[in-house]
Amino acid sequence: MNPALQDRVLRRIESRADELVELTRELIRFPTVNPPGDAYEPCARFVGERLRARGFEVSYVRAEGTPGDSDRWPRINVIARHAASRPGPCVHFNGHLDVVTTGEGWSVGPFAAVVREGRIYGRGACDMKAGLAAAIVAVESLIEEGADLPGALEISGTVDEESGGYGGVHYLAERGWFSRPRVDHVIIPEPLNVDRVCIGHRGVWWAEVQTHGRIAHGSMPFLGDCAIRHMHAVIERFERELFPAMARRHTAMPVVPQGARQSTLNLNSIHGGAAEQEQGFPSPCVPDSCRLIIDRRFLIEESIEQVKGEVRGILDALARERPGFRYTLRELFEVLPSMADPNGPVARSTAAAVQRILGRAPQFVCSPGTYDQKHIDRIGRLKECIAYGPGILDLAHQPDEYVVIDDMIAASKVMALSAGSLLTGSA
Ligand SMILES: [Zn+2]
Repeated sequence: MNPALQDRVLRRIESRADELVELTRELIRFPTVNPPGDAYEPCARFVGERLRARGFEVSYVRAEGTPGDSDRWPRINVIARHAASRPGPCVHFNGHLDVVTTGEGWSVGPFAAVVREGRIYGRGACDMKAGLAAAIVAVESLIEEGADLPGALEISGTVDEESGGYGGVHYLAERGWFSRPRVDHVIIPEPLNVDRVCIGHRGVWWAEVQTHGRIAHGSMPFLGDCAIRHMHAVIERFERELFPAMARRHTAMPVVPQGARQSTLNLNSIHGGAAEQEQGFPSPCVPDSCRLIIDRRFLIEESIEQVKGEVRGILDALARERPGFRYTLRELFEVLPSMADPNGPVARSTAAAVQRILGRAPQFVCSPGTYDQKHIDRIGRLKECIAYGPGILDLAHQPDEYVVIDDMIAASKVMALSAGSLLTGSA
């Protein structure tokens, strides 16, 4: 993209700063809480109708039959495409419309979109409606100023990212919306901080370990077999063998924060014996079942077979060594690690744009958790995907979540410059 055009695009974004703020506020006012998936349709239509009025070709795709989809809570996605008359690559910006529940502790209305001291507050301000709004203004400004740019620009607003993306990017990727030749480069404006370019994420494996026992009267536990004591043996083995082994494994992935640069395991929840009750008095029984949910996050250097194998190995060893030990292992969910090439066009052009707008080189990072990049990589078979957006990572999912308006304007400029150089092949 030539320097004169770059300057015009940047000036146009600057002049639309107030509009960018208002667009973000309008998006926040849709309470798109997931679960259950409230207000998805009006939010998707709001984005779609805005872009249709600006000449985009707009599609609405309902992910019928995916988890949570119903007539009351339809999983509606919007994809808008603007193709130039000259052929060229396609740059796609993907933002998720859904937000997590508000939780306690807010000092402002979570959907009031209050503006105060250069910030916009609200659920989704940071994660990630400001990012989507910044992408929309970036793309619109690029189109308004760069009439002779080749290729195509796309914007999608997708749902269910917070619950795995099955009704959103996963569904669309399976139907070719995130594959070549339709799309060449993807930027996801997730909140990873305005001066960082996120090239991927660690892997995930969720599983439920159940230990089995035998019920008996609690006054005579020797007549039963306590499933909770068996689970204790499992956790004790994790402490003694698995946690130290994981702590020794470090990754070359630039994961932030630093603590996530090794393998981790969270014991997500545990329950044994009679159902949990708030009131009344429990009856005396030896628990015949105990269930533990584990959340294992792994590195690109580890294989998923190894990750599963070491848990199974511990359980099998206990089955051999510990009298009465029986277990069931139920796999719940898995995601392989994903990492884009930091020297690929989309990472390089975004980094160059950060340097230009903020005057410093960005940090390349990987996310400790996952986001929709996994589906674009695995299903869409597109490695050319990064996350870059204005939100502050640590504020995501917190009460009084906010976005800094200046960061949002800067991110919008970065996205416009990056997309412009990708379209013109100057990245
Ligand atoms: Zn997000």
